[in-house]
Amino acid sequence: MVNGCPGDSPCRLLPLQRAEHVLVLVGLMKKNLVYSNKYNTDLSCFGINKPFALDRGDKVLTRLSQDMGRQLAYLEPQPVSDKEILLVHTREYLKSLREAQSWINILELKENEFRPGKDSRPLPELLDDIKVKCGGTILATQLALELGLACNLGGGYHHAFPDQGRGFCVLNDLAIAVRTMKQRKLAKRFMLVDLDFHQGDGTALIFRRDPAVFTLSVHSQEGWPEEKQNSSLDIPVKASETGLYLEKTLNGIEKAMKSFSPEVVLYVAGSDPYEEDVLPGTRFLRLELAEMRRRDELVIDYFADRNIPLAMVFAGGYGPHVWRVHYYAVRRLLERSGSTFANSIGSN
Ligand SMILES: [Zn+2]
Repeated sequence: MVNGCPGDSPCRLLPLQRAEHVLVLVGLMKKNLVYSNKYNTDLSCFGINKPFALDRGDKVLTRLSQDMGRQLAYLEPQPVSDKEILLVHTREYLKSLREAQSWINILELKENEFRPGKDSRPLPELLDDIKVKCGGTILATQLALELGLACNLGGGYHHAFPDQGRGFCVLNDLAIAVRTMKQRKLAKRFMLVDLDFHQGDGTALIFRRDPAVFTLSVHSQEGWPEEKQNSSLDIPVKASETGLYLEKTLNGIEKAMKSFSPEVVLYVAGSDPYEEDVLPGTRFLRLELAEMRRRDELVIDYFADRNIPLAMVFAGGYGPHVWRVHYYAVRRLLERSGSTFANSIGSN
């Protein structure tokens, strides 16, 4: 239920400004954030110097804990198993991840970005931490089905194909989560709402013939990949249309929801359309922080208002400032889950 919680039935998604309900439910709230310290991989141990914002989850948790006046609790995921990975990826590809060169290709490490020293860890060991993040997307999707809203403070590797990692994406955690939910018979109909700057091409390719999975991608028309796949619904946004981004996003969601009714939504909340993103390739969309905040609130509210479970993942976002986008998004998700904050959003 959204608009009212009759009797003793659990209220999964809370409307805003229902303070009396919020107060009652705070004590009953279950954890719906997923994170592990393994998300914050120290890339310098591998000899890598690239602005992957792996500390985003840590920064968001720290800031939200300050807002709440207490340490914010989260659930730690188990690493995804090889059996679950093979629901999406080929055995040959998985084997290829034992080779350092595969990682250099996937992470697009240029000479000045990869200088391994004698003590550096071998690149294939990166897979251990990525498996944990992938397990995080599975857990967040399961929590969303149980509680209404959940977030993996990482993940969103939407470019990975079944037989090839690409664009910094090694394992397609979104596709693995969908197939795992199906295998566990927890849900049958899924919608991917992918608002990363880049098209969700890996996910689109994986589910192109699956009528039970609707893939919506709102992305930069000019941005990588040049050769795009066919999602169930693609909304390319030209650089000259940046001012229409929010309108196009809402129209896309409304259109998608007219033709498909999902049991659960996986929201790929990439922060790379943000103007402070440092990846040169994301220059075509430069949205202000307030616009990014409106985007994420729009998506979370749209599905929360309709009582449709939603699992959010972080996805793209590069440099020291993108964590702010995720901070506002996770805060909204927590508010809609019944959390209260000591400070108002305006005081941040
Ligand atoms: Zn991206």
